[in-house]
Amino acid sequence: MITAQIPEIKTLLSTPKNCVIVPHKNPDGDAMGSTLALYHYLKIYNHNAVVIAPNDYPDFLKWLPDNDSVLIFDTNQEACQAFIEDADLLFTLDFNAFHRAGDGLGNAMETSKGIKLMIDHHQQPDDYATYMYSDVSMSSTCEMVYNFIEMLGDLDKIDAEIATCLYVGIMTDTGSFRFPATTSRTHQVIGDLIEKGANNSEIHNNIYDTNSYSRLQLLGKAMQNLKVIPELKTAYITLSQDELDEYHFKKGDTEGFVNYALSLKGIVFAAIFIENKQEDIIKVSLRSKGDFSVNEFSRAHFNGGGHTNAAGGRSESDLKTTIDKFISILPQYKQQLSQ
Ligand code: 5GP
Ligand code: MN
Repeated sequence: MITAQIPEIKTLLSTPKNCVIVPHKNPDGDAMGSTLALYHYLKIYNHNAVVIAPNDYPDFLKWLPDNDSVLIFDTNQEACQAFIEDADLLFTLDFNAFHRAGDGLGNAMETSKGIKLMIDHHQQPDDYATYMYSDVSMSSTCEMVYNFIEMLGDLDKIDAEIATCLYVGIMTDTGSFRFPATTSRTHQVIGDLIEKGANNSEIHNNIYDTNSYSRLQLLGKAMQNLKVIPELKTAYITLSQDELDEYHFKKGDTEGFVNYALSLKGIVFAAIFIENKQEDIIKVSLRSKGDFSVNEFSRAHFNGGGHTNAAGGRSESDLKTTIDKFISILPQYKQQLSQ
């Protein structure tokens, strides 16, 4: 357990170190918020820190404090490899298995001699970290980074920039404080982050009110494609590459679409299938309400994972074959879905 290791971590951090901080592939608000918050924190102690994101992420996250310092592994492999080779400490945030950082970056971290520290709230963590702070009950990795800073006795070091980053991740991972993992403690942390300078209204605006016209049109298309299987309390959406192209799809444009399917009255299981011709895969996003575990469903059928109520995965088949497979396996879950 991390609390017993805190003195050791404090000793490690008492002199400047080369620190590499990595979020998962296709980073979301929690991944970028937690890594940039930790980056700021480590900078206060004069560590030589860098955030290395596996690949690019949506524009609506690019206003975060010090976003410009982030290196993207996909487009800057040599520099990133050098940082990883020289790393004393490797922080893996918001994921718990190297492959979740993508093959290249995952392998580089696995072979690095840097000491590994994990902060994460996903299920079934791999056992690679010397210091592992893993808690699946947590709302977000950002809430855990707050706890981590608290364990280090440094809540007073949280400035407006750290507070802003942490607020973003807690907000996005809790669906703006509505998912069940949102606790009174989550709200207390959020209250403290506002006290410390996070501008809640501005943050909501920056993340959610930056729609392009074409994104809203794409949302319209997604809603037209929405299908409902009432007897299995399931709804799903498809988007083909042609449809994405028609509405000038940009990374992040489909973020949150699956939640509309889940918002249908009586629906407990929602999915979105998005064709990606470049990677030659179908990206699958799964959401549920109650006990139905989309983490287990994704692990069993779509080579993915995540949380009980939010998970992702992929299919190597074409869109139609993937949907046919999805529909054909659903009846196995009839009992769980109709509870
Ligand atoms: P999303 O559907 O928004 O991409 O992801 C939902 C949740 O599942 C996130 O917590 C994300 O980290 C996780 N997730 C998404 N894709 C994968 C995947 O391919 N494998 C695993 N293990 N987790 C995933
Ligand atoms: Mn998260």
